[in-house]
Amino acid sequence: MSKDAIKAGKVHLVGAGPGDLGLVTLRAKECIENADAIVYDHLANPDVLAWARDDAEIIYAGKQPGESRTQQQINALLVEKAREGKQVVRLKGGDPFVFGRGAEEAQVIASAGIPFEIVPGITSAIAGPAYAGIPMTHRAHNSHVTLFTGHEDPTKTESVVDYAALAKLGGTQVMLMGVERLGDVTSEMLKNGVRSDLPVALVRWATTGQQQTLTGTLSDIAQKAAANSFEAPAVVVFGDVVSLRDTLNWYEKRPLLGKRIVVTRTRKQASALSNKLRALGAHVIELPTIRIEPPSNLREFAELVQDAHIYDWIVFTSANGVEAFFDIFFKLYDDAREIGGVRIAAIGPATAQRVKDFHLHVDLQPEEFVAEAVVREFKKQGSIENVRVLLVRAEKARDVLPKELSAAGAIVDEAFAYRTVPETRDTRGAQRQLAQGGADLITFTSSSTVENFLALGLPWPKGMRIASIGPITSRTVRDQGLNVDIEARRHDVDGLVQAITELFAQKN
Ligand code: SAH
Repeated sequence: MSKDAIKAGKVHLVGAGPGDLGLVTLRAKECIENADAIVYDHLANPDVLAWARDDAEIIYAGKQPGESRTQQQINALLVEKAREGKQVVRLKGGDPFVFGRGAEEAQVIASAGIPFEIVPGITSAIAGPAYAGIPMTHRAHNSHVTLFTGHEDPTKTESVVDYAALAKLGGTQVMLMGVERLGDVTSEMLKNGVRSDLPVALVRWATTGQQQTLTGTLSDIAQKAAANSFEAPAVVVFGDVVSLRDTLNWYEKRPLLGKRIVVTRTRKQASALSNKLRALGAHVIELPTIRIEPPSNLREFAELVQDAHIYDWIVFTSANGVEAFFDIFFKLYDDAREIGGVRIAAIGPATAQRVKDFHLHVDLQPEEFVAEAVVREFKKQGSIENVRVLLVRAEKARDVLPKELSAAGAIVDEAFAYRTVPETRDTRGAQRQLAQGGADLITFTSSSTVENFLALGLPWPKGMRIASIGPITSRTVRDQGLNVDIEARRHDVDGLVQAITELFAQKN
């Protein structure tokens, strides 16, 4: 064995599933979390990259016309990274061994003597029909399924797909990579005696918020696809099972289907909002505009955390603040009781939840989440004359809360727990997606997301509307000369999701 091979890392050939994040296997997620380097295809959902370590090297392998690295370059890249001793994840859409050249990559890796692992994924050939409400098999309709490719090696002169055999075989037949050649394929089938009224379905961008299905018969589907500019990637299902869609269609009935919605929170926080929007059928473009960084003066923050027990109240204004606080607190102390008899106030349900995660009781959780209302709630508790308050918050947050609490007689210390900085990296290609495909709506969940989104200087996609989480965020939007199309009545993620659903219900 050569020296290189001895220190070789490992290549994990991982199926990323057909698109829906929920259809990624646990093993795939684990591999992504552990990877030193990730090489991904355009069909692998880039949102899975949010699971990667911050220091993982992320490489887009293209494979879209015009931007492709050659297959040889990709093969060489995988070998090279593994030889550097890295844990390499090669992410492929669907299942790595169902078309799409995963098998060839595995052969190259194997013959280079590099250890490898195959992580199967849910293939679009199965998930696509399922999400279109088409079962692959049904006792009354078929007893076998065939997968075939419509895009063959262009150097071959004769088709290796035996259409005569397919015609004879019947059953459910699923074609991948064949939309461009649909006309040729359907006429071959007709020529070989398949009945012209055989139901056919095309499912495009299956299992994602952009899923579209087109149905027809063997004789008219190619023409319909052309008339609707129905483009790749799509799976094509031939067979009587297609007719079951009339009763089993479920995914395409959801209220936000096809809506392209931009989520602008930090990478870590985006998932709650994104997942809820996805569950309603939206295509979410996660475009983190800000990143959480330690405060400019970490020592000062740590000193305030250390002295937390001398206060009467700790007020948390964000989940990030709670996290930053306890991160330091448990570095300083190994006993939660060191926090003493201090009472805890939390603004917003997410903040309160984060406190509860640390097994601490929230003594005050204002019904309304804006600073003014919080001061009112404190006042309701009686005089706060000389009460000592530690306010844990972001650098450069608004001053209303400390000012009003001080005005009411409290002695307020501010602990700057973190700062938000613009997220300028585009490792997941979200900025590219926004530029190429536009969006129907952008969500803003804080004033800083507004400011930081605008600071990125991206062109505003045509017709993109704005949803805001609450009045303060809305004011910032308007100050920037933009309109708020919808504002959440309840100023949290659920409230925002509800407002968005209502907005799209109105206008449709
Ligand atoms: N390994 C992949 C297939 C790669 S070949 C898998 O198991 O799914 C690429 C083809 O897969 C595309 O041309 C298209 O036919 C199909 N495909 C992949 N993802 C798809 C999706 N989300 N929706 C529809 N078709 C998809």
